[in-house]
This record gives sequence, C-alpha cells and structure tokens, in this order.
Amino acid sequence: MTLVRFAPSPTGYLHIGNARPALLNALFARKTGGQFLLRLDDTDAERSTETFAEAIREDLAWLGIEPDLFARQSERKAQHDAAADRLRAAGRLYPCYETQEELERRRKRQLGRGQPPIYDRAALQLTAEDRAALEAEGRRPHWRFLLDARTVTWDDLVRGPAHVDCASLSDPVLIRADGSYLYTLPSVVDDAELGITHVIRGEDHVTNTGVQVQIFEALGAAVPVFGHHNLLTTADGEGLSKRLGHLSLRGLREAGYEPAAVRSLAVLTGSAESVRAVPDLDTLASLVDLGEISRAPARFDPTELDGLNARLVHAMPYAEVAPRLADLGIPPETAEAFWMAVQPNLGRVSEARDWWQVVAGPINPVITEEAVIAAAREILPPEPFGPETWKAWTTEIRSRTGAKGRGLFMPLRLALTGLEHGPDLAGLLPLIGRDRAARRLAGEAA
Ligand code: GLU
Repeated sequence: MTLVRFAPSPTGYLHIGNARPALLNALFARKTGGQFLLRLDDTDAERSTETFAEAIREDLAWLGIEPDLFARQSERKAQHDAAADRLRAAGRLYPCYETQEELERRRKRQLGRGQPPIYDRAALQLTAEDRAALEAEGRRPHWRFLLDARTVTWDDLVRGPAHVDCASLSDPVLIRADGSYLYTLPSVVDDAELGITHVIRGEDHVTNTGVQVQIFEALGAAVPVFGHHNLLTTADGEGLSKRLGHLSLRGLREAGYEPAAVRSLAVLTGSAESVRAVPDLDTLASLVDLGEISRAPARFDPTELDGLNARLVHAMPYAEVAPRLADLGIPPETAEAFWMAVQPNLGRVSEARDWWQVVAGPINPVITEEAVIAAAREILPPEPFGPETWKAWTTEIRSRTGAKGRGLFMPLRLALTGLEHGPDLAGLLPLIGRDRAARRLAGEAA
C-alpha cells in the first residue's frame, strides 16, 4: 500500500507553492489507492506554533485534502534519540566543537586556496582527553553524520535517473549544540518508522536526498522511492516564501477564490498538461503524471487565477452553490433564478452579493433619456414578471419611441440598476419586480 506524506513546518501559513507538493502527494495517493500522512515538522520549538499547525489543517481541508494519518515530530523525540544512539554506536555520528566563527574562518581559508569549502573532519581527530578539555571549557558538541564518500543514485519519479556525489558535501550537522535536531534525521526516522513508501517533494531537496539515503541505509531501513518536482515560481522567476505570506492559501480563500482554481494552477503549471480549470480531484489526479512534470521551473502568473476561477464559477451547478448564496443573505425562494441571471457575470461567487444589492436595492437610479424612461414607466406591464417580460416590454418601448439598440437599453439599464454594465436584464427584471422597477424609473432610490 502506498503511503505518502506532506511535511510542512508549522512556522507560517501555507502558500500556493506549498499547495503543489501537498496536492501532488494527495493525488498520487488517490491514484494508487494509497494513504496520505500529514506530518508536522515541528522540531523547531521556538518558531512552531499551534496557530500555524491548526491553519495548515484548515488550509489543506479547504484544498480538499483530508489526511488519513497524522504525526508530529515533536512527539517522536524518543525515536529520534534512539536512532541517533544507533548512528553513534555505528560510528556514523560524531561530536564536533567548532564555533560558527571557527568554521567560517576555515571556510574562507579553503576558498582562498581554491579548495571546496567542505568540513575538514578535524573533529574526528580529537582524542577523549581533547573532548573532555573542550567540555571543561563549557563547550557542548554538535553532531555530524559521517558521509560515505560515494555517489548516491536513485530512480527519481520525476527526474528519472538521479545522483548526488556525497564526496563533495560536508558531513551534515544532525544535532545542534543545544541537543535539538535539524530536519535531516527526524525526517528519515519518521519516514522509515511510519512506513512512507514514496517521498514526493520539491527539487530543493535533491541534495538532502543524497544524504538521507545514506542515513536510511546506516539505520538499516528500507529506502523509499523519491520524486522531486519543480518549484512554483512567479513569472519573473521569484520563489515563493512562506514568510512573506505571498499568495497564502488563506489569503486566496479570503479573496474568494475557489479551491479548484488554486488546485488547478498549483498542479498543472509546469506539467505536461495545459493549465485549465479542473473542478474535481479525480480528474486532476488523472491528469497528473509525475514522470511528465517538466524540469524547468514552474512559472505562473497569479492573475491566471482570475480566469480559472471565472470558468469554474460559470460552470457551477446551482445545487452546489445554493448554501453559499444563503450565506451571502440571498433568499432561498429566488436564489436559483438569481443565480441563473448573474452567474455569467461573476468572476467570484462572492460578487453575487453585489448583484443581490442591485436587485433588492436600494440603488440610485440614473435617469438619462427622459422620453424612453417616460414610455417605459407608462407601459410597464402588470405582474407577474417572467422571462419574456423584458422582451415584450422593450419591443413596445421601441415602437413607441423609436429608440433602439444601445439608445434603448442603456437608459433602461441605468435607471433600473444605476450601472452601465451588468447581467442580462431579461433575467434581472423579474427579480427586481414591478414595484421597485416603477420606483427606479421614477428616479427614486429603491
Ligand atoms: N519540513 C520539510 C520542509 O518543509 C519537509 C521536507 C520533506 O518533504 O522532506 O521542507
């Protein structure tokens, strides 16, 4: 059984760039009949907050992702400690005492000599007495993983044959001097122990994968399948930073975008498929093939969301939108006719509220062509108003006044709605009703 995970740190709000790995994992699970684990990488106690943890769950739910399983790294410290002990016992985790300044000085020296700035493993030469002396000075060790100087290879779900030459990397620090873990080890321990079969994440993690494969192997754990997708960037190539809150999922939700619009853009950009509005997850899952994802950055223009959103709204069945119209305060008895009338004019569902205001009033009518309006008032038909009322009424006004085309419709639109543009008046007029129409034609704010 496939088990994938999405592993954000609860240190900020998710943005559209995070939606990409979240969705690629969720869609992969859906397609393979597998499960999706949400793992909060909250080992950084200072920056992780409960508010962000809760927001991540909410934002995923809004995207349509309900995790099958949930884990928190902060609750798995005992397992991380046990794994660290095993690495120590195997001679793969060693204590280092250099300060940041010492490391920086060494780096500069190496660069000056034209050498790659790789950690020189000086700490491996320390004797037990050296270490005791350093500790007596009050120094606490940080711990590095001893890399095998070899090239790690794997068959990447997205990139095909992939490799990382670990001989060109510094031994990574796994544990800080204060005893806290960096991301690298807990991620491997949790992936291994929770049974993750496929790790699908951004290509910014390719080098990590080289290191992490070695850690899986050092722990005697099965190595999962890896897939590294291209990262979503804005059109100018700028990355999306969680800290900037740039295009946060919550911001997009509050702005009234449909989750399906965000999903379509987050997933289809930089894939083999054209970016289009896909309303449901199953169809989206059928369109995504990890092996077909481009290796170039997935550049997108945030304004594409508007077009995608409008297309989704224009195709949205009334039954689906009915509860939302009720939330906007639109009375249920007229909501369906109202939806049919305004749907083609909406970019976002929330704009329905503005059109309801135009229907129910009060609005400020704009009276321009006195003659047209006078005739319109005079021959305004009796109730009930239906879908044919507009046609019959305007035909009659035309034959009385000779006004036609824009010269006929614009004065009526301005009087009835106070606006130059809007939904088809044939649909709006029955909703406005005779009484309000008469008052508006008389110039009254109604
Ligand atoms: N917490 C890590 C991140 O947000 C997870 C990376 C991974 O998927 O392994 O970058």
